[in-house]
Amino acid sequence: MAYNIDEIRSFFPVLKKEVYNKPLIYFDSAASSQKPFQVLKKEEELHNDHYGNIHRGAHFMADKATQEFEDVREQVRAFINAASRREIIFTKGTTESINLVASSFCERFVKAGDEIIVSEMEHHANIVPWQLAAGRKGAKIVKLPFNDLGVLEIEKLPSLINEKTKLIAVAHVSNVLGTINPVKEIIELAHQSKVAVLVDGAQASPHISIDVQELDADFYVFSAHKMYGPNGVGILYGKEKWLEEMPPYQGGGEMISEVSFEGTTFNELPYKFEAGTPHISGVIAFGAALGLMNKIGLENMAAWEHSLLVYATQKLKEIEGMKIYGEAPRKSGVISFNIEGIHSYDLGMLLDKMGIALRTGHLCADTVMAHYGIQGCVRISFGIYNTKDEIDVFMAALNKVKMMF
Ligand code: PMP
Repeated sequence: MAYNIDEIRSFFPVLKKEVYNKPLIYFDSAASSQKPFQVLKKEEELHNDHYGNIHRGAHFMADKATQEFEDVREQVRAFINAASRREIIFTKGTTESINLVASSFCERFVKAGDEIIVSEMEHHANIVPWQLAAGRKGAKIVKLPFNDLGVLEIEKLPSLINEKTKLIAVAHVSNVLGTINPVKEIIELAHQSKVAVLVDGAQASPHISIDVQELDADFYVFSAHKMYGPNGVGILYGKEKWLEEMPPYQGGGEMISEVSFEGTTFNELPYKFEAGTPHISGVIAFGAALGLMNKIGLENMAAWEHSLLVYATQKLKEIEGMKIYGEAPRKSGVISFNIEGIHSYDLGMLLDKMGIALRTGHLCADTVMAHYGIQGCVRISFGIYNTKDEIDVFMAALNKVKMMF
């Protein structure tokens, strides 16, 4: 499918909306993307036709829902080219996926005195779970820094890795700086010392084609709600060799084989890590989002978003007092900035009144804010439906706000 922006926009009913009597310009897809009708329809279809609790095999409805749920597992497997569907675990989001690995991996493989390397540009979701798990074990968190351009200083990585290092946690794409990190290189380095790597793909999976086998990632995590799918659905990819060894994260229905008061045996992968009733309708509807992304094509989406990034960056740089955070040579469609003399919160609030939805504040990345010595910033982020015309409207609004100060 050639990139037909009008057709793509027509998939998203919400884009016709007005806020404060202004056409909505949605520049906050990095926080959560909007949902196309295909996803909304799929969820409705399930509820109107064949909803039932899955994996119970009790009746027609349950069987049909189970089949669709498991079909999406296969779709996810193919989307990231995992070797087996046993390696695809449904969670409620990237945050839960990371907590699962931090808790379970550390319980099994980390002991007092061990070290976990975490990059300085991580979302809080890829820092705090490691701190909690390391704290329980008496292990230490070691920082992998980035430079002022927003590029990880991976030349420092060999000196940070030692025999105590057990895992490296790093984002594929930074949610603040937009930097596309060289995760393949990091994984190669880590594996030379038998260190595992968890890649936080929350900001990469909506934009970049992912091949977990090619990357050789040990764990790769992401959220459906940033990929035009429903919220409340996350994915944990883990290599079977790790997942087999790791203890369950939560106990409950579905994750067991047999239960008695003498002891419990656990279900096989991936169910060992899927306790309780999952977000059935969310997972099934996510299949429609993946279908749409495949149809449009990841390469086409990336090229479109890159052209928006280049255009907006160039326009923003013309503004006096503009400071952009993150100028890495490989960057995704995220631009964080401040304008001298204007508080980011004021800027965001005034732009919102002009119909522009964007994000302000610390962006769940206090360590990035600390790096630049700021409290917060403004972030615009692009999805497949954004246009250069919207950037022009945004720029005019920004200039108007600037005149007010
Ligand atoms: N990591 C990154 C890089 C993110 O951008 C986000 C979402 N802002 C998360 C993790 C957390 O994702 P979720 O809230 O879907 O669990």
